[in-house]
Amino acid sequence: MSKSIAVSDIPSTVYGRGSGRGQVPSTHSEPASAPLPTSPRKQGEELTSCPRRLSILGATGSIGSTTLALVRENPDRFSLEAITAQENVEALIVLAQEFRPAFVAIGNPAHAGRLREALAGSGIATGAGPAAIAEAAARPADWTMAAIIGIAGLRPTLTAIRRGGVVALANKESLVAAGDLVMRECAGHGATLLPVDSEHNAVFQLVEHAASPPSKITLTASGGPFRTSMPEQLATVTPEQAVRHPNWSMGAKISVDSATLMNKGLELIEAHHLFRLAPEQLDVLVHPQSIIHCLVHYADGAVLAQLSHPDMTVPIAHTIAWPARITTQARPLDLAAIGMLTFEQPDEARFPCLRLARAAMKAAGDAPLILNTANEVAVERFLQGRIRFTDIPGLIDAALSSATGNTPQTLEEIEEIDDTVRQTLSQE
Ligand code: NAD
Ligand code: MG
Repeated sequence: MSKSIAVSDIPSTVYGRGSGRGQVPSTHSEPASAPLPTSPRKQGEELTSCPRRLSILGATGSIGSTTLALVRENPDRFSLEAITAQENVEALIVLAQEFRPAFVAIGNPAHAGRLREALAGSGIATGAGPAAIAEAAARPADWTMAAIIGIAGLRPTLTAIRRGGVVALANKESLVAAGDLVMRECAGHGATLLPVDSEHNAVFQLVEHAASPPSKITLTASGGPFRTSMPEQLATVTPEQAVRHPNWSMGAKISVDSATLMNKGLELIEAHHLFRLAPEQLDVLVHPQSIIHCLVHYADGAVLAQLSHPDMTVPIAHTIAWPARITTQARPLDLAAIGMLTFEQPDEARFPCLRLARAAMKAAGDAPLILNTANEVAVERFLQGRIRFTDIPGLIDAALSSATGNTPQTLEEIEEIDDTVRQTLSQE
């Protein structure tokens, strides 16, 4: 395997490696500018395949839709190998008819007949159930978007990683619940992991060509819809209010995570694994305008920032074309029109989920996995109207008391702990 970047002490899974790039076919549509000396790309190496073959896991979701919008705008650059969804079979059929992937998988087997019948005679293969989602992840794509929500995305994400290809990772819960395993599998199979989460993608853009690792990373947080709410108001907020994010348009679960600030806690753990920094080298800064996505601090005192409007088009476009750049419809950034960017410390007293996530990151072992599972359960109950917004941290805190300090080593061990935590919580 050829080592392709002069950064030896940062994970090659994030910073690109020869075998991952080997997944990208070798014709391209436009000339590349000269790569920087530290670029993982060799001089003259081709940039984009024509078309690059993509699989999108979680195609009907918020990230999946934004990814497909880029495919729609670039029909000569991208074609689809496989797409998946869990429940929304009608939306999946519409996408299949428009994009004509080779394979379409629906997670819920109850929709198998409807999917098969709708695509009969189209030449598109279909499948249903978890095995079909796994098959979609295993198919020979140049690039896979891992955008299933929650720990349900872990198994298919690992399947894509084990192919040794390029995996754009939106599914942060995989890294939180199984960071050691995911990074080990990437290294072992020569996979290239490209962070999609806006803050981590921003960091990646700033460190990709750096010859020294950062001394610290600051992830910015919008503060969510309740940034200025009084503590007593938080007890009565509704799911509708919680999913109405001030800046970002996202799926329901991550929107609630943003409202509790658990999203930023999950992102600290995600950054800890992706960029191999100690918990003390990671912090959070509330920045309500969501224009600056991260700050990367270097030992010499330099601090680099990455800016864009809060629009997932930007990080997704970066990963879909990586290492090239494509034109997008993202709104140009006009800082004079924005006028002022503001910053404040996160309030862990009103938003204890951030404190819980930091504690789980420091404790390591099975704590981040338990944190993630308990959070998934709590958010689902809140969305169903079964618990209050302010009950979410208490439920997670209680679940964390079962942490053993041992790190689960295999996917099966991780899934077993996830099941046990869900069962225990369902009996309470
Ligand atoms: P979403 O709820 O909008 O979409 C989730 C997708 O996963 C859907 O296609 C759904 O059919 C599929 N899915 C759900 N349950 C499944 C299961 N059990 N098995 C297989 N497929 C299943 O979610 P989203 O907002 O697009 O988020 C996707 C991932 O990206 C999450 O991990 C989230 O944290 C991360 N992320 C999202 C954003 C964003 O702006 N939406 C930003 C950063 C990171
Ligand atoms: Mg984010």
